[in-house]
Amino acid sequence: MVTGTSFDVGQLRIHILDDGVFVTDAGNLFGGSGKASIKGAMHPVLVEVGGDLVLIDAGFGPELPEILVGRYELRRNENLLDHLDRAGYAAEDITHIILSHLDADHVGWALSPPSFPNATVYVQGAALEEARQMPEKDGRRAAVPSVEKGVEDGWCELLDADGDVLPGVKVELRAGHSAGHQIVWIEDGEDLALYTGDLAPAKIWLDPDLISGVDTDPKAARQNRIEVLSAAEKRDAPVILYHEPGDCLVKIRKTEKGFEAVPIGD
Ligand SMILES: [Zn+2]
Repeated sequence: MVTGTSFDVGQLRIHILDDGVFVTDAGNLFGGSGKASIKGAMHPVLVEVGGDLVLIDAGFGPELPEILVGRYELRRNENLLDHLDRAGYAAEDITHIILSHLDADHVGWALSPPSFPNATVYVQGAALEEARQMPEKDGRRAAVPSVEKGVEDGWCELLDADGDVLPGVKVELRAGHSAGHQIVWIEDGEDLALYTGDLAPAKIWLDPDLISGVDTDPKAARQNRIEVLSAAEKRDAPVILYHEPGDCLVKIRKTEKGFEAVPIGD
């Protein structure tokens, strides 16, 4: 059942949190030098699994990263930690953090600085490897020292495949936007929900042919988007759209051109 920004998947309680919105020149996302600006929300997801608390992605962090100043504007009155508090939890309560990939708008509170003292952070090794190869000023590259330190200190674990981080919280490798990009299926019995990360982060991205200038491998992104959204439709799963500024919890319907978002309850 869906109430506001919280809903249940079987016995698992899910809260959709908020880390504000960013505004950027559309050219930063689609290439070219378009004059239009584009707005994206950030909706990290909290899943209660028995006594554990899983956070999926972690916003921009306390402030806009240095490398994005001038290109991105961050707008928020309340941040992720405020929304966590409102859901009834403190930073110390988080036990697991899944990072879909290493872009700055997904890793902030988890890595710079690490804000959850009792959490293990799960990153795909392929995402780290790609980030190491990025140019000096790239956002993904900026995450490398923190992830490496986390691995060394034992609070970051590198994954190399699909699998359950906890019972019912399953990561699945779906590369394209980045190498090692992972989505998350949240499942209990017949009941399930999907977190798409940046594979399909907002309603406009439900069009498989929308090519992003920031996808590492646009062909793989397109193919994975079609496969994952088809599975979501088939399984009638509510889908959480991380960057959707409007209604970020939707269901998926196939159209002639691709897919569209359907409000939950329709
Ligand atoms: Zn993103």
